[in-house]
Amino acid sequence: MTERTALVAGAAGFLGSHLTENLLRDGWTVIGIDNLSTGRTENLKTFRKHPSFRFLRRDLSRRVKLPPAEAVFHLASPASPPHYQRDPIACLAVNAFGTAQLAEHAHRSGARFFLASTSEVYGDPEVHPQPESYFGHVNPYGPRSCYDEGKRFAEAMTLAWEQSKGLDARIARIFNTYGPRMALDDGRVVTQFLVEGWRGEPITVHGEGKQTRSFCYVSDLIEGFRKLFDSSVKGPVNLGNPETEMSVGELAERVRALTGGRSTIVHTERGRDDPERRRPDISRAKELLGWAPKVPLTEGLEKTSLDVQERLRRASRAAARVRRVKEGSP
Ligand code: NAD
Ligand code: UDP
Repeated sequence: MTERTALVAGAAGFLGSHLTENLLRDGWTVIGIDNLSTGRTENLKTFRKHPSFRFLRRDLSRRVKLPPAEAVFHLASPASPPHYQRDPIACLAVNAFGTAQLAEHAHRSGARFFLASTSEVYGDPEVHPQPESYFGHVNPYGPRSCYDEGKRFAEAMTLAWEQSKGLDARIARIFNTYGPRMALDDGRVVTQFLVEGWRGEPITVHGEGKQTRSFCYVSDLIEGFRKLFDSSVKGPVNLGNPETEMSVGELAERVRALTGGRSTIVHTERGRDDPERRRPDISRAKELLGWAPKVPLTEGLEKTSLDVQERLRRASRAAARVRRVKEGSP
């Protein structure tokens, strides 16, 4: 067991909460930092009272005082397209100033710095699958540029600290990851389809639904994070599941079946610059980290589906209680 301290920026988010749980299990002390812009305190529930966990509500796009640590994990950033498009300036700010602040803090504390980057640095890729050596095909002036360019800047900032100041850094390029605790209203495809399916509402496929994504289950990704963090691998490493590439239309069919088949499938307008195809080349992770995802899509979707179903049930019970109180009935 270690007694080291990790700062997890974005701890109240989907991935941040799973990473925090994993670190606590391994004996780390964790200080979670989050401004709760897209994260939720509900995500902290299973470890909120853990003696080795502390939570600081802070906005990392402003200068804040940070406690010393041996590890700094930077996951603070909106990740879902509707979220980052709702406040593009906040997205750019946390990826630019937030990354600079956390990298500087890690360097001053002598901590290892871990950046959660993204497959969006490849934009709408013309190379398929995408290896880390691909420079990408990003529109710098479009609806996704606050996120894509924000993350590209974050990588460049990390490299600058690494090369000019000797920062000890790791960079994960994460491909579409799903699992329990994703916000039910964040609009990302897996949760959106599951919510629609369980409510018996139409499942909304953007465009014809021929665009593809590759879906990685959260426990696989967190294992990849830890292996990368513990390694001496420099430069970006793709983490994702290449075995699960499928069209969005096919995912809609699978989710409809999984949720009881009551929903219809409808097609709505597709967002500009929405990538056509995405699949990670994970050769580097396989060779250098000995990592590959293990959880099959069927199993991961099943677990995520149960979590979504349970949260929808709780929400509807809470709404019924509120109605009863308003109506004055017991
Ligand atoms: P999420 O929205 O659930 O979590 C992000 C967290 O960051 C939230 O808790 C949010 O409140 C916090 N945050 C945002 N701005 C902040 C600020 N200014 N100060 C402090 N906290 C702030 O998203 P997620 O899926 O957990 O993503 C976590 C990280 O992983 C992000 O950096 C994201 O870009 C990256 N990533 C995720 C995926 C994925 O498929 N889940 C894919 C690629 C990259
Ligand atoms: N998508 C969809 N319906 C939805 C949400 C998303 O068809 O309700 C599509 C979206 O247009 C994209 C894919 O699913 O082609 C993945 O979208 P998501 O927002 O999950 O992630 P990203 O685009 O960042 O990979």
